[in-house]
Amino acid sequence: MTEYHLDPDRYGLNDEKQDNSIPEKAFNYVDGLHELYRLTYKYNDCGPWLSALVEYYETIEPDGFNDYPSDKLVSKWVHCGELHTLGTWKTMQERGILLRALMVGSIVEGVDQFTDTYEVPCQPDELEKEELPEDKGDLAITLKRMFDRAIEAVDIEADSIWHETHGCDTCAKHWGKQEGCDGDTNIWLDCPECHGHGAII
Ligand SMILES: [Zn+2]
Repeated sequence: MTEYHLDPDRYGLNDEKQDNSIPEKAFNYVDGLHELYRLTYKYNDCGPWLSALVEYYETIEPDGFNDYPSDKLVSKWVHCGELHTLGTWKTMQERGILLRALMVGSIVEGVDQFTDTYEVPCQPDELEKEELPEDKGDLAITLKRMFDRAIEAVDIEADSIWHETHGCDTCAKHWGKQEGCDGDTNIWLDCPECHGHGAII
């Protein structure tokens, strides 16, 4: 497991003091990113995955080239099942881990087809470009709106892939095919067998 460097004063890039106050406010119904992933997965039909782009300073220990420890800025994506290693919002602050962006997408079961992935910025420099008058200058609202839109887009795409691939045997006959449930049959919305929901492949 990654050890994060403990220095909250070293937050962010470009000597700009940054923190996670905007994402923390936008997602104040969860205690951190792991819970955000869990809830997002649970309450959306498409079962989206969630990844987080984080930045923190890692201490490089003295080696043959350097006599003193030095700090290196690390920027990396942390995915679904690893998000718990970041801890809660509070631990992230204590460890000096800055949340740069979130990314969502989905894999449709049975056919392993991917939706597009959507990246949502979490810091003011990027969020300001997306701000709308209705956000009333609150970038947490901008972030939440962008995140919800991204999930919605993933949901719509996943649903459309599902409908193009999960037709049952009766759907298949309607389209003049012998068999369905093959990952290559459209769903017939008036199907008396699957009622337009399709079949589990
Ligand atoms: Zn059917």
